[in-house]
Amino acid sequence: MQQRFDYIMAGGGAAGRSLAYHMIASPLAGARILIIDPEPKLSNDRTWCFWSPHPTPFDQIVYRRWPTLDFVCEDFSLQLDLAPYDYRVIRGIDFYEHTTSALKAAGVEFLQARVDQIEDHPDHATVTADGTSYRANWVFDSRWDAVAYRGQDPRYHYLQQHFLGWVIRCNSAGFDTTRATMFDLRTAQNGIFRFVYTLPFSPSEAMVEYTIFSADLLAPPEYRAALSQYIETHLGLHDYQILEEESCIIPMTDQPFARAGGKRIMRIGTRGGRVKASSGYAFLRIHNDSAAIVRSLLQSATPFHGRRPPARYRTFDSLLLQILYRHGEIGARVFSDLFRKNPVQRIFGFLDETGSIAENIAVMASVPWWPFIKAWIKLRVTRRV
Ligand SMILES: Cc1cc2nc3c(=O)[nH]c(=O)nc-3n(C[C@H](O)[C@H](O)[C@H](O)COP(=O)(O)OP(=O)(O)OC[C@H]3O[C@@H](n4cnc5c(N)ncnc54)[C@H](O)[C@@H]3O)c2cc1C
Repeated sequence: MQQRFDYIMAGGGAAGRSLAYHMIASPLAGARILIIDPEPKLSNDRTWCFWSPHPTPFDQIVYRRWPTLDFVCEDFSLQLDLAPYDYRVIRGIDFYEHTTSALKAAGVEFLQARVDQIEDHPDHATVTADGTSYRANWVFDSRWDAVAYRGQDPRYHYLQQHFLGWVIRCNSAGFDTTRATMFDLRTAQNGIFRFVYTLPFSPSEAMVEYTIFSADLLAPPEYRAALSQYIETHLGLHDYQILEEESCIIPMTDQPFARAGGKRIMRIGTRGGRVKASSGYAFLRIHNDSAAIVRSLLQSATPFHGRRPPARYRTFDSLLLQILYRHGEIGARVFSDLFRKNPVQRIFGFLDETGSIAENIAVMASVPWWPFIKAWIKLRVTRRV
């Protein structure tokens, strides 16, 4: 007989686990929950960073936090005092271990299998995984294949955030652990926006990432060459060990992602459009979404909460994406102006979609205005906004 659940998570990465975690901390605890994922999640496959002025549900596994961030470019450097925010990092492995033990202790079931099909019905959905089917009142789908994803609609912009990151250890104690570097633009731009990001974990250990926002990926050796060159030239390190490596492709697009995969199927995480189009940040947005889904289930018996940021943020994302897509050569100038002319708290509010209209206007007025006006006209023509 088909096994029945209240909720099935098709995909047990950040979004599937986050939602189940929020459920067990709410009056939904005790519901029958199944998480299906082919990956056992035993490796440190990613590092999540985010900023917040508030405590978050996963603060107990925050690996490091910084009260200041550096912004560095060819012409100037800034030390950004983040208060009341701080910048936090959670290691993938700590998140997987913490959520696995909390969820198992609360009776959540895990199945290591690949979901092949999800079928929608008026009052339930069925999931087929490795040939067996399971039934649930609601299915939350976060399956995502970053390599296969290709947007085609000419009205939208499709960039990718792609990077190579190394956790390195050096013999000398050279890193200042009180300051992380969010952007260092002193890497050859060659018409595409690129930067390096450094998170000092200890005086001798840091994560260094070479990051690019562009439509196309680079050849694998190019990431390595640029990263080693940066480490030698700007960190002054010639003798270091690479302890870990991570790479990724995160979609940066203004194409809306459908939330509903059916009446009883809700898309979450990257698949549900939770990645901020113009920054690639998703981690905290995913947890906020989980909280909103749980609230909605409790209040209205549906996970579709309809909570949306003000529409103007989609326009801002589209403008920035269009400029980075068509004029990657001015990306460094746009970001330098943003950070030079605005307090970092205003930029965080803008990226978190919580800033006031006046603050948003101040942010938009700080970047080179002519490319943005042209981008806005183009947007009006192509989308009739
Ligand atoms: C290396 C890396 C670093 C990142 N760093 C940051 C960061 O610093 N800050 C930030 O805000 N965001 C970051 N992101 C973006 C985003 O937060 C993450 O991608 C996040 O993991 C997205 O959550 P998700 O659940 O949508 O996807 P995932 O966490 O990737 O989970 C999707 C799950 O679906 C599973 N799956 C796929 N196919 C199937 C199938 N057929 N059946 C069942 N399961 C399936 C996968 O195995 C995976 O476990 C990063 C992303 C990557 C890849």
